[in-house]
Amino acid sequence: MATAIAIDGPAGAGKSTIAKKIAQKLGMVYVDTGAMYRAMGLYFHRLGIEPGEGERIGRLADQAEVSIAYEDGKQQVYLNGENVTSLIRAEEAGNMASAVSVYPQVRRLLVRQQQKLASVQNVVMDGRDIGTVVLPEADVKIFLTASARVRAERRCEDLKNRGLPCDMEKVEKDIEDRDWRDTHRAESPLRQAEDAILVDTSDMTIDQVVDRIITLYREKTAGSLETKKKEV
Ligand code: C5P
Repeated sequence: MATAIAIDGPAGAGKSTIAKKIAQKLGMVYVDTGAMYRAMGLYFHRLGIEPGEGERIGRLADQAEVSIAYEDGKQQVYLNGENVTSLIRAEEAGNMASAVSVYPQVRRLLVRQQQKLASVQNVVMDGRDIGTVVLPEADVKIFLTASARVRAERRCEDLKNRGLPCDMEKVEKDIEDRDWRDTHRAESPLRQAEDAILVDTSDMTIDQVVDRIITLYREKTAGSLETKKKEV
């Protein structure tokens, strides 16, 4: 049985940076599910479909083949055979991803693929519904959060480092809008799983968060080994 760490939380909480580091330290595979929704967003954007066109989105979703591959240990995202890894990082792609991720046809397709990835390898998977829907049996579930302001500052820093412009007020507003959509959608809304551990990263360094989660994982997996030994 493969082992899994599920990390959920709102946009900009630091999920991907942290999940990537944990995966590296524990020799596990990092799966960024947001990238898969972003690729779907790009697909519909290119077709000129508006976020509100639910019927068309539902009908066309299964014509978008989103897949992930690893090159030099880095996740690459493919949309119908084209490497779209760098194209999906723009703010508009994130907003479009959030808009199309409300549709059950889109979610069902991607969730199935994510479950398949986790069944064949040890994963650190991040997203919005990993602990609640995709991997309810994950060894450790983390709900990572930070204030909207801190998250907007981090997003701007990230965009600037990549040479992209950033309008702080707009990014903060986009984050709040996306949070609202992600937590209020009918299908798999963003929420903390009952057995997830809440980690607020507003005043923590990346390394502190990484160490905390690795400790929790080690405690949990050592605990289940103990239980198994006792059962034998
Ligand atoms: O995490 P990231 O910002 O890349 O995700 C983009 C969007 O994809 C999110 O705002 C969210 O609406 C959607 N998403 C989702 N479920 C996931 C991962 C991402 O609905 N598991």
